[in-house]
Amino acid sequence: MTLMSHNYDLHTHSIASDGTLTPTQLVEAAAAEGVRVLALTDHDSTAGIEEAQQAACRCQLSLVPGVEISVTWRGQVIHVLGLNVTPGVATLEDGLEKLRAYRDWRAQEMGRRLAAAGIPKAYEAAVGLAKGSIVSRTHFARYLVSLGRVPNVPAVFKQYLVRGKPGYVPGEWAPLEEAVDWILAAGGSAVIAHPARYKLTATKLRMLLGQFRECGGVGLEVVSGSHGVEDVQRMAEQARRLDLVASVGSDYHGPEHSWAGLGRLQPLPHGCVPIWSSEHWPNAVPRRASVI
Ligand code: AMP
Ligand code: MN
Ligand code: MN
Ligand code: MN
Repeated sequence: MTLMSHNYDLHTHSIASDGTLTPTQLVEAAAAEGVRVLALTDHDSTAGIEEAQQAACRCQLSLVPGVEISVTWRGQVIHVLGLNVTPGVATLEDGLEKLRAYRDWRAQEMGRRLAAAGIPKAYEAAVGLAKGSIVSRTHFARYLVSLGRVPNVPAVFKQYLVRGKPGYVPGEWAPLEEAVDWILAAGGSAVIAHPARYKLTATKLRMLLGQFRECGGVGLEVVSGSHGVEDVQRMAEQARRLDLVASVGSDYHGPEHSWAGLGRLQPLPHGCVPIWSSEHWPNAVPRRASVI
C-alpha cells in the first residue's frame, strides 16, 4: 500500500509528558484514525516509547521513537523534535535528565509564585496530575481549571502562565546546538516543531533555520495541528528555500484537544520533500519532492 501524508503523524504526546492518553491508548486511537506511521514525541522524555512500541506491534502501525526537546534560542522557547532516536543513548538521556531537573525546580517556583498570587498548593496538585511524569505548565493549567476560576486551559495560560503573568517563571532550557547534538548522538533527525507558533519575524525565522541547519538540523514541521492554511504555505516555502525536509504532526495531547486531531491534518504542499522519503529516514526510497 502506498502511504500518503495523511497516514503520517510525527508529533504526539502521551501521559509520559502532558498528554492524557497512555502510550497504548494513543497508539490504538491513532490506528483507528488511519495513522500508519506514528511518532511519540513527549516533552523532554522517552519514557513512553517502549510501551508504545509494544502496542504498535499489536496494531500493525509503525512507531517512530521520538522526543520534543525544550530549547531557549535568543530568549525565546523553541521546540525541537528528535525523530527516530534510540532511547537509552547516554548523551540524549543525560541531556533530557538535565532539562527535567530544571523542570522540577521551575514547577516548585511556579507553585511559590501562584501561592503568592492567592492560589495555594498548585505545585502539589500539578505533581499529582502528572502522576510521576514530567510536570508541565499544562498540569498547572488543568488544576486551575478544576478550581472553577478559569473556564479552560488556553484561558489559564493567558491569565497566569505566559510571560508577564503571575505563574510564569523565566528560565533557560537547552541551547539549540546542544539539543541537536543529543538527537544526532541518538541516531535521530532534528526537526523544528510548529514554527508558526513562535510568531518570529521573517528575518528572525530565517536566522533560526539557518543556525539550526548549521548545527545539523534537517527538518521543518510544515504541517502542524496548530498551523492554519497560510502558515502551511509559508513554512513550505521556507523549507524549500533553506533545503529542509518537511514533517507533518498533529501535536495531539488527547481527545479533549482543541486543534486538529490525530490523522486529520492538511496535506503537505507540492514541492516539499517529506522527511520519510528523504535520506534522513531509515530505509527511505529517496524522492526529490512530494507528488501528493
Ligand atoms: P511547558 O513545556 O511546561 O512550558 O509547557 C508547554 C506546553 O503547554 C505545550 O507543549 C502545550 O502543550 C501547552 N501550551 C502552551 N501554550 C498553550 C496555550 N496557549 N494554550 C494551551 N496549551 C498551551
Ligand atoms: Mn505539550
Ligand atoms: Mn511544542
Ligand atoms: Mn508537542
